[in-house]
Amino acid sequence: MAHRGSLDVLVVGSGASGLSAAVSAARHRITVAVATKTSLQANNSSKAQGGIQAAVGHDDSPAVHAEDVLRSSHGTADPDLVAVLTGEAEEAIAWLEGLGVAFTRENGSYRLARCGGASRRRLLQVGDRTGHAITKALRDAYAATDGTALEHHDLVALAPHGAGWRATFGTPAGAVDVDAACVVLAAGGRCYAEAEARGELSTNHPNATGEVTRVAIAAGAAARDLDALQYHPTGGAWPASMQGYSIPETTRAYGAVLLNADGEEFTDSLGPRDEVAQAIVDEVAAGRGVEVSDGRPAVWLDTTRISEADAAVSLPYMLRRYRGAGIDPLTEKITTYPVLHYQNGGLVIDTDARTSLDGVYACGEIAGGTHGRNRMMGNSLLECVVFGRRAGRTAAEAAAA
Ligand SMILES: Cc1cc2nc3c(=O)[nH]c(=O)nc-3n(C[C@H](O)[C@H](O)[C@H](O)COP(=O)(O)OP(=O)(O)OC[C@H]3O[C@@H](n4cnc5c(N)ncnc54)[C@H](O)[C@@H]3O)c2cc1C
Repeated sequence: MAHRGSLDVLVVGSGASGLSAAVSAARHRITVAVATKTSLQANNSSKAQGGIQAAVGHDDSPAVHAEDVLRSSHGTADPDLVAVLTGEAEEAIAWLEGLGVAFTRENGSYRLARCGGASRRRLLQVGDRTGHAITKALRDAYAATDGTALEHHDLVALAPHGAGWRATFGTPAGAVDVDAACVVLAAGGRCYAEAEARGELSTNHPNATGEVTRVAIAAGAAARDLDALQYHPTGGAWPASMQGYSIPETTRAYGAVLLNADGEEFTDSLGPRDEVAQAIVDEVAAGRGVEVSDGRPAVWLDTTRISEADAAVSLPYMLRRYRGAGIDPLTEKITTYPVLHYQNGGLVIDTDARTSLDGVYACGEIAGGTHGRNRMMGNSLLECVVFGRRAGRTAAEAAAA
């Protein structure tokens, strides 16, 4: 078995949460490595389109943001984690801007959209490639540190070792052990694997398979709400090349509405995700859906109500995808059906991202509690940055102590 020596902080996963942790830890002048299953670029974070929430509007506040999170979670989110998420949102945005993320502005102010379940407009966007912009800036920031990257390292086991932890990875060259004083688990959720097992579609990257959660639980970590998986209400239904594509919630923020086969609105298109997804399933079950060419069920999303101007600024990627597939969403309605999207639950953490295992931290989609059993759109990227930074800082301080 190969052995790579000892580190202060080992981060597992190279999405927005892992990179936020790694950049923060590496600023403490300690040894840091990011290990990731395939390449640094391969993750769900890069696929995120719609945006990131932060209460920066004049009519908004962290307290109002927190109320929206708690209401959308139906009271199941952890209020302490929600207070940190919403209270540090503005600082997280400033930190990202300092790393070079240029959020879309109009007339000097942020262009803010209202997302499902929100009582205010608070979704900041970078066009409709927000996750791409954030992860690119984080990768560049990490590359400028002394931290190292261990690509094609697939975590398969974690065990106490001396005063720290030993992580065992599968690699193309065989098994490799890496020892670290502290380990940050940032390996995302499991919706790709779950969809495969159920024979369903998923929006997720193929690396979203969830084994790191199982590894942590096997090592003794506590978890919560693991059964609470989120369906994105508006997955692409047709053409076939758009199946599994998450039609951004910002389509609905900018005027698109859900319609049944009779052209009737049957739900609040900007309600909480679980309610909108359930309403679509119920409408189809009641015989008021439409069927796409391969027989899959769907309803209409009337995207013709979106203005050219809004689409040009906030939905250019979505337009390119659909037009490339032969449909212009600004002149014809598109079909949609819920698709497996997000793992709401995960490893139990405290407000500094500590798991129940001493020296092991968790952040991002792998962690539970922040969204309870139903996440609002735009709060996952925020969670990645807020709790990623906290995990990196707390792990670095613990390793240096
Ligand atoms: C299509 C899409 C659109 C979305 N849009 C939005 C949005 O607009 N706003 C929003 O807030 N959220 C959005 N989300 C959700 C959000 O992007 C993700 O929940 C979040 O980015 C997860 O980040 P993460 O760092 O926790 O995990 P990921 O970004 O998934 O990264 C996980 C990392 O862990 C690695 N990994 C996995 N297993 C192992 C292993 N065994 N060993 C080593 N490494 C491993 C992976 O390769 C990857 O690098 C969207 C998600 C998708 C899929």
